[in-house]
Formats: sequence, structure tokens, C-alpha cells
Amino acid sequence: MSLRGFLEQMEAEGEILHIKEKISPRFEIAAMMKAFDDGPILLFENVKGYSAKVVANVCATRKRICRALNISEERLYQKLIEAWRNPTKPKIVKDTPVKEVVREKFSLSEIPILTHFKYDAGPYITSAVISAKSPDKKVENVSIHRLQVLGNDKLAIRIVPRHLHRLWLLAKEENKDLDVAISIGLHPAVHLAATAAVPFGISEYYVANTLLGGKFRLVECEHIDAYAPAEAELVLEGKLSISEMIDEGPLVDITGTYDIKRKQPIVKIVGVMHRQDYLYQALLPSGNEHKLLMGLSRETTIWEAVSKVVPKVKAINLSPGGGGWLHAIISIEKQTEGDAKNALLAAFAAHPSLKHAIVVDTDINVYNLEEVEWAIATRFQASEDLIIIPNARGSTLDPSTDQEMGTTTKMGIDATRPLKKPKEKFEKAETSKSRNVEELIEKYMAKCSP
Ligand code: MN
Repeated sequence: MSLRGFLEQMEAEGEILHIKEKISPRFEIAAMMKAFDDGPILLFENVKGYSAKVVANVCATRKRICRALNISEERLYQKLIEAWRNPTKPKIVKDTPVKEVVREKFSLSEIPILTHFKYDAGPYITSAVISAKSPDKKVENVSIHRLQVLGNDKLAIRIVPRHLHRLWLLAKEENKDLDVAISIGLHPAVHLAATAAVPFGISEYYVANTLLGGKFRLVECEHIDAYAPAEAELVLEGKLSISEMIDEGPLVDITGTYDIKRKQPIVKIVGVMHRQDYLYQALLPSGNEHKLLMGLSRETTIWEAVSKVVPKVKAINLSPGGGGWLHAIISIEKQTEGDAKNALLAAFAAHPSLKHAIVVDTDINVYNLEEVEWAIATRFQASEDLIIIPNARGSTLDPSTDQEMGTTTKMGIDATRPLKKPKEKFEKAETSKSRNVEELIEKYMAKCSP
């Protein structure tokens, strides 16, 4: 149930690349992460100026996320929905590895926090899961936020108007800073849970517990009133200020463009808990891992919504080229003419940031963009199969969205084959392979590959 446990499993499966050469957390590690964007997990064992190792790209492939949850890729959306609908209370424990070291005197400069892109405002913590409770302690929220390092004990936090923001407003009413546990180095299920589409009032820790089959554990922080994952590598205990605001950003976000500078609140670090030999977990903004962690819960929401209007949804890809956020490719089994258009409308309603959506038949692999393009080339007529919705709400992460109004033009493409025309006309032609030729292909392919 820990990051370490998962890494052990991945080590056995040959999914970890150990980098023993000296490397700097300023730009160099990020450049390596980018180069191995959807490849193996990277373990940087010799980080210039630091004793802690850095682990990166942990959740960078769908395959690894499914391995972490111990399910097949086809079961992923159902598994997430089950956990969202049936959150269960994790056990609270006292003695845990994250309490091997508990300190008040601590400097953020001890941690190998990465600086990622050339014009980023500075070093940023990007993989932290943040939990906080409402002033009346009745509501707990767990979510992921970027944190800019501003000094030895000070961070700026970006909070968009969602659940943590609501807790922050409640704290403001009480005129008391908000205690926040900032946990780093976590099992993939905890990251996935933190992005769950559950309403305010449901703790994402409970979702993590269901995802982990009831084996997730929490621990009380030492210097603040908040819970943290008992198996975390490192927990920063902070006070989220209700009054002190500061310039946050710019920083590259999910679309791979620089998000702008804004006034955001600060977090003052008042204590820290960590394993003796803690691993620092890095996450590359706009990397495949970022897109998957943010996108998977949206794919699940879209899958659920589209499943309500068409009989069968096979797969959904919030594609990397669309920032894992703005573009969806959806494959459906069409039964009636018009199913694909209803699927498009349902998808746009389910994910308000969605900008372009393409619906294809189930013979098209949604992860193979060449096949998707082929479906558009051979099964789509713009005069009949295109939907354009101007002035709808979009995502400000898209620089082409009206940055003041937040409006965008949405476009839906129905690239499914028409039902009434002869089916054979639209079929993907396949060569027929005898056993003999299959063996020959295999033999000569092996010779061709390096
Ligand atoms: Mn929430």
C-alpha cells in the first residue's frame, strides 16, 4: 500500500530504470523525465547536492496504473466508479514509517525539489496530495495542488475554486488559518483517489481505501490537525494562510504552455515527518503521468455519461496531443443512426473542459491516432457529421480560450460509418494470415528489430 511496495513490484517486472550518474534537480531531471515520458519509472540515485533519491514517472503508463490497482485495462473505469460510489473509512494507526523522523526545525532546501521548465517561476512540488478538514471537522478533502517554493518554510499554493478552496473560505469565516497535510511519495491509488470526481463532503482518502481493498492507513500529523497517508515517504505540515497572498507562477501546466502569474495564498511549513531515507517523488507538469492522473477520472466520467445514451462504449482516450484534457476519442457500438451525436453531447456535458471530441466505431483503436484519422478520412462528412457549439464554457488552460470569459468553441466529429450504406464499403481491409505466414512475419520482424 506504499510507494515502496509498488516500486518493489515494478522492479521485479523490469519497469524501473536506475540512473546512477550525478544529476541536478534544476532542469536536468525534468529533461530526463520528458525524454522518457511514457517509458519506465526513473529512479535518480545520485542527485546533485542532496542525499534523498528522486523517483519519477511512476504513473506514466495506463498499464502501470492498472497493475497498481491489480485490474485489467478494460475494468479500470468500473473499478474507479465503484470506489467513488462506495468510499470506506481507512484505519487510523499510530506507529508508521513516515514518523521515523519528526521535526519542527526543517528547511525546504533540504528536499530535492525540481525546477522543471526554463521560464517556470522556480522550484515546484508537483506530486503532493493535500488534505485538510473543515473548521467544524465534519468535512475532509484530499486533492493535488502545485506548490511553489518561496523560502525555507514557505510555499505558494494554487487553489482553483473547487473543494480545498471551499474549505479555505470556511476557514476565512472563522478567521483561522487552515491546517494542511502535504504528503509526498505515495502509492498510485492515493494519487488516483485524490483526482476522483466525488462531491464536496466525501473524503478522497475513503476512495483510496476502497481502491486498495480496505488496506489503506492514515496517521495523525504531529504539528497540525490533519491526517496523512501512514505509508507516505514525506509529509510537510502546513498552515494555509487566509490572509497572505503572493504572486504564484508562471509554471508549465497540463497543456504544455505556461500558466500565468496569479495572486495565490501562501502555506507556512510548521513541521515535517518523513522516513529516515525518504524518496522524493517528482511529477513532470504536462508529462504523460500528469495527463493520465488528471485525465483518467474525466475519462471515467465521460464513460459513465456516454454509457447512459448509447448501448456500448468500448474505450475513451483523452489523448496526449490534447493535453490529456481537451480532446476525447470515444469508440462506441452504434445501434441507431444518431447515436454518435448523442454520445458527443453527453461527453461535452460530462467534462466541461472538453473542446474537441471524435466518436468512432469499435473497430478503431482510440489510442492509435493514425486509425482515428483514417476513420475521419473514410467515414466522416463535415456537412452532416460535424457539430459546432460556439461560446460554450471551456478551459482557461487552453490559451486560445477567451481568457476573460473562459468561453470556447466546441467541435464534435461523428466519424462512425453510416448504418444504411453497405457495411462492406467502410470495412478496414485486413490481409488474411495463415499460420505459415504468421511464423514468417514473426521470424523476419525479430530480424528487423534492433
Ligand atoms: Mn473533494
